[in-house]
Amino acid sequence: MKSSGSITAGKDSKTGSARDALWPNYSPPQDLVITHGLGSELFTAAGDAYLDFLSGIAVTSFGHAHPHLVAALNEQSGKVWHLSNVFRIPAAERLAGRLSEHSFADRVFFANSGTEAVEAGIKAIRGYQLASGNADRHRIIGFSDSFHGRTLAALAAAGNESHMRGFIPMDYGFDQVEWENLPQLKQAIGANTAGIILEPVQGEGGIRPISAEFMQQVKGLCEEHGLVLMMDEVQCGVGRSGKLFAHQHYGITPDVMALAKGLGGGFPVGACLTTEAIGETMVVGTHGSTFGGNPLAMAVGNAVMDLLLEPGQLDEVTAKSDYLMDHLQKLVAQFPKLIVSIHGLGLMIGIKCVVPCGDMLNKLRSKKLLVGKSGANMIRLLPPLNISYEHLDQALQIIEEALLEFQDA
Ligand SMILES: *Cc1c(COP(=O)(O)O)cnc(C)c1O
Repeated sequence: MKSSGSITAGKDSKTGSARDALWPNYSPPQDLVITHGLGSELFTAAGDAYLDFLSGIAVTSFGHAHPHLVAALNEQSGKVWHLSNVFRIPAAERLAGRLSEHSFADRVFFANSGTEAVEAGIKAIRGYQLASGNADRHRIIGFSDSFHGRTLAALAAAGNESHMRGFIPMDYGFDQVEWENLPQLKQAIGANTAGIILEPVQGEGGIRPISAEFMQQVKGLCEEHGLVLMMDEVQCGVGRSGKLFAHQHYGITPDVMALAKGLGGGFPVGACLTTEAIGETMVVGTHGSTFGGNPLAMAVGNAVMDLLLEPGQLDEVTAKSDYLMDHLQKLVAQFPKLIVSIHGLGLMIGIKCVVPCGDMLNKLRSKKLLVGKSGANMIRLLPPLNISYEHLDQALQIIEEALLEFQDA
C-alpha cells in the first residue's frame, strides 16, 4: 500500500497477501510458519523441528503444550470463560493469595499484559502518595536502557527516545537517570518525587542484572526520602532468574512489582503486586480492567504456580543456568573475536557479540535454534525453565557450529 497525504487513502487497493492487513510494526521471518509446539521444540507444517530458546520472549516458561497447563485451560474452558470483575472470581482470589504468600506483597491487581501491570503500578505509586497527603509527589524516576512496555506512561517511564518519538507530547511526570549512576539519581530526587521504577535484570536494553551495591543504594534512598520502590519483573520474574522473583537475589523488598510474561505460561496475563499500605489505597473507582483476572487466565496462572512451586524446580533453573553459562564462557574463550562476554541471571542470558547479532540470530535459525536479540548487540537466550540438559547440549553445539562458520568465513 502506497502512503499518501490522506489518512483515508488506500482503502480501495485491497491487494497483496493476507499478511498485508497487519500493521507493519513487526518483521517476522517470512519463510518460517510454526504450526505447533511440544516442550522445548516448535514444528513447521513440513515437519522441521526448531529448538525454542526464546519462549515467546520469556513467556512459555514450561514449554509448549505442557500437559498440566493444557488440562487447566481445557477444564476451565468448559465451565466459564469470562465474568468481568463485576463478580467474584475464585481462581483470581486464589492466585492473588498464592502470589502474596510467596512474595513481599499483600495485594494484587490482575491485568492482561506487562505494560498494563506497569501502568497499574505507576498509578498505585501516585495513588499512594496522594492518599498519604503528598499530592505534590507525582514524579517517578526511571533508568536509561529500561523497557516497561509500549503504552504511553510505560514508554515515558523508560524514556527511550526511539520508542517515544512523537507519540508522547510531554514527560508524563517521569525523570530519567543513567543506569547505576548514583550521583545522578540523588540529584534527580526532589520534593515532587513519588517513586523509582527499575528492572532488576534489564531485558530489552541488554541482559543486565543490577549490581547488588546499586540495588541497596536505591532501596536506601527510597527509605530515606519516603519513595515507593517499584520493580518491573515482567521479564525477569516468575522463576526466570532462578528465584521466584529476581529482586529476591538482592536481599531487599520492593513496594510494588509488575509481573506478566511467564505468569501465564503463554496465556495473556499480567499482575501488579503491592504492599498492604499501597494496595489499600486503590479503592473502587481508582482502577480496573474488563479482562483482568479472567477465569481462563487465572486457571492457567494457578497451574503455572503449581509447577513453579514444585520442590526443586527453581534450583533446577539455577543448575541449568550455571551449566549453560559455563559452557558459553568456554565459547567466549574459544572465539574471542566473535563473542566477548556472557551476561544474565538464571535462564535469562545474553551473549555479547562482535559479529552483528542479527547475522548470528539468522545463522542460528538456519541451524534450527530460535533465539532473541537484545540491546547493545546481544543474542538473548530465554529457554523454557524446564528444558532438558540434552536440549541445552544441542543448543550449545549449534552455537559452536555457528561460531566456527563465522570464524572460517
Ligand atoms: C515485555 C516487557 C514489558 C511489556 O510487556 P507487554 O506484555 O509486552 O506489555 C514490560 N516490562 C518489561 C521488563 C518487559 O520485558
